[in-house]
Amino acid sequence: MSGPVLVLVAGDAGAPSRAALQAIGAARGLAEALGVPLEGVATADVADAARRYLPHVHRVEAPPHAAGWTAVLAAAQEARAASAVVLSATRSGAAVAPRVAVRTGGALLEDVVTLAADGGAVVGDRLAHLQRVRETVRATAAPAVVTTKVGAFAPADPAAAEGEVADLPLPADPAAPHVTVERTDAVAGDRVPLEEAPVVVTGGRGLGGAEAFDAWVVPLADALGGAVGATRAAVDAGWRPYDEQIGQTGRTVAPDVYLSLGVSGAVQHLSGMNRSGLIVAVDHDPDAPIFAHCDVGVVADAHAFAPALLAALKD
Ligand SMILES: Cc1cc2nc3c(=O)[nH]c(=O)nc-3n(C[C@H](O)[C@H](O)[C@H](O)COP(=O)(O)OP(=O)(O)OC[C@H]3O[C@@H](n4cnc5c(N)ncnc54)[C@H](O)[C@@H]3O)c2cc1C
Repeated sequence: MSGPVLVLVAGDAGAPSRAALQAIGAARGLAEALGVPLEGVATADVADAARRYLPHVHRVEAPPHAAGWTAVLAAAQEARAASAVVLSATRSGAAVAPRVAVRTGGALLEDVVTLAADGGAVVGDRLAHLQRVRETVRATAAPAVVTTKVGAFAPADPAAAEGEVADLPLPADPAAPHVTVERTDAVAGDRVPLEEAPVVVTGGRGLGGAEAFDAWVVPLADALGGAVGATRAAVDAGWRPYDEQIGQTGRTVAPDVYLSLGVSGAVQHLSGMNRSGLIVAVDHDPDAPIFAHCDVGVVADAHAFAPALLAALKD
């Protein structure tokens, strides 16, 4: 197939989500490698913002559930004879992609951390077996339906020129939801979700206890409009919840700014944050491995640095 790469541009409040921008970044690289055009698929509320990143955006109407999106993406793939369909591996992306692969007779490449072309075939790496091994998978059918691991790709920069938006008329599909939401209760505060956060402030064992997170890490994240992260050591000690763990067996993030406090920089931690934009590391040991992987290294006692930074931000 030599049709375009289609990328789903999911969004929130009229703008592509950070995860969607990462999917666009991955899809852009794939389209270049395959030598085919790159096109987006978006609902009306996101289409205008999406064209800052894409040469062409198909505006679609999609029922807001997995069955509806499956029908829309499968029809869009057929209409455009797309060689690949790329989605972010969010919960909804992970629900939609396998169905699209089945509907289109394509190959499913799930949760990839790299995406490339090899001899015209789509290939990617993914982590497997409780994230202990990395394996390379190859699509042997077309189209390739790909989900990109959240945080594994840098968000796309805007393109040099804005693209065009056009309605993509698709055959009506009476897709009905297979699951409906019964009730919604807020469980998190106002803080931005980890994978969407432009800034992540992470604490490690060097902070010495949960109190230091409450006193500095959480307020720093709030002051910077960011989210809180933790190392496995901090999570295992019970200082922070598991869903804040960053690394090989936790979450993968790629914020614009990553600030670590008392984090040594173990390889299993680095794999969850090493695609961040600016990495600032604070550790009192000048030989801490993290200093080989950061843009700005501060050799300091985190218990002195963190309150001073907080005070400076509040001034
Ligand atoms: C299969 C497997 C999966 C793993 N998955 C993950 C994962 O997903 N995420 C993860 O994070 N880890 C993971 N780990 C654990 C990982 O190997 C490290 O043990 C862990 O990341 C270390 O956390 P840390 O940096 O907080 O602690 P440490 O390695 O103990 O580092 C603490 C740092 O704080 C510094 N420090 C101490 N006191 C101060 C102070 N007052 N001021 C400033 N600096 C100070 C020290 O110099 C040191 O560099 C995994 C391990 C395995 C085997």
